[in-house]
Amino acid sequence: MKLLIRRALAADPALGPEKVRDLLAENGRITRIAAGITPPRGCAVVDARGLWLFPGFVDAHVHAREPGDGKAEDLRSLGRAAAAGGVTSALAMPNTSPPCDSPSLLKDLRARARRKCAVNLFFAAALTRGRAGRALTGLEKLSAAGAAAFTDDGGWLSDRDLFEEALRRAWDLGAPVLQHSEDFSVTGPGVVNLGPVSRRLGLPGIDRRAETLALRSDLASLRRAGGRLHIQHLSCAASVGLLRRAKAAGLPVTAETCPHYIALTENDVPAGGADLKMKPPLRAEADRRALIGGLADGTIDMVATDHAPHPAAEKAKGLLRAPFGVIGLETLAAACLTHLVFPGHISRARLTQLLSSNPAGLLGLRTKGSLLPGMDADLALIDPTAEYEVKPPFFSRSENSPFKGRRLRGAVVLTVSEGRVVHRRRR
Ligand SMILES: [Zn+2]
Repeated sequence: MKLLIRRALAADPALGPEKVRDLLAENGRITRIAAGITPPRGCAVVDARGLWLFPGFVDAHVHAREPGDGKAEDLRSLGRAAAAGGVTSALAMPNTSPPCDSPSLLKDLRARARRKCAVNLFFAAALTRGRAGRALTGLEKLSAAGAAAFTDDGGWLSDRDLFEEALRRAWDLGAPVLQHSEDFSVTGPGVVNLGPVSRRLGLPGIDRRAETLALRSDLASLRRAGGRLHIQHLSCAASVGLLRRAKAAGLPVTAETCPHYIALTENDVPAGGADLKMKPPLRAEADRRALIGGLADGTIDMVATDHAPHPAAEKAKGLLRAPFGVIGLETLAAACLTHLVFPGHISRARLTQLLSSNPAGLLGLRTKGSLLPGMDADLALIDPTAEYEVKPPFFSRSENSPFKGRRLRGAVVLTVSEGRVVHRRRR
């Protein structure tokens, strides 16, 4: 199968200065990227004048909800949502039901994903058995079965001895440990950020210290044990400062934030309701600005969606009782373009690092995250002029998007995964 994308603005700093190029994909790989490529015989041609071409996005944090009851999402609908968002590789979290803590379940899931999911799906395995935080899983066997990372996401592995042993063993396996840094004793019954909005709404708040205390402790563990630690969903200014100092001291740590934390604040919560309820919660404007600063200066390495689908009936329970989590795959690129690139906070090249090459590096995906010849033909073609209101229907089985009713600029018009077109925008 051959595909020629013509006259796209290729956004990959690995190619050198940004310019308009043609890209030829053959048999699932990028074979040439240059100006004025003549299409070989039998080659499909896409006219990409005025469009921006990125390496397919790599999302290091999604919840596929399979195994589960399938009401919120499954591997097929997740793949469709990812493809619609230009996401060609994603890392599925293990907090499913049952949790992914055994080699047999992991192997089964990987086989199911190959059958059902339109994009490349990788799996993180649980750090502890049943994600209960009491005994480590068989990390070595899980690694042999194909685990791309280890995490108890949704929960915080607070036991320092276990966590440090996990860091050491995962390091020997070449896999990163992903940590949801949250001190649940601080979170308590909180549902939104602790501050003026929680007080006005009369809702229990979540102090930023729930994140920063856990993060401090995790960084201290990394200093003691070594290893490779990735911090999930940073939400506040103080965390950015902690990360910046840790990196300056040479600690091998990376971090992600999510589109909602760079686009929205707690002030949006009263109007948005439970569709803006997630963990950690939306914070204040100063936090949002600090996160953007961290993305721009290299402190934060990537934007991941934490795509967390929930059925409408669950989200209808309101801010106090609805489950935490929002969907994000379909709006990832548009949210980042609208809130990071178009206002001039970061360049297109930096966006490529944040959405493609850095997460590919975290997961050790050597043939993904770049448009260089020889890489997998994973591509996202974007129309930077398309402006629209986000609204259902979504490709995801769930509709709990925090961007519903909001305008975004930048639309994914074509997604290619290993040479196959997996999404084409309806005009
Ligand atoms: Zn989490």
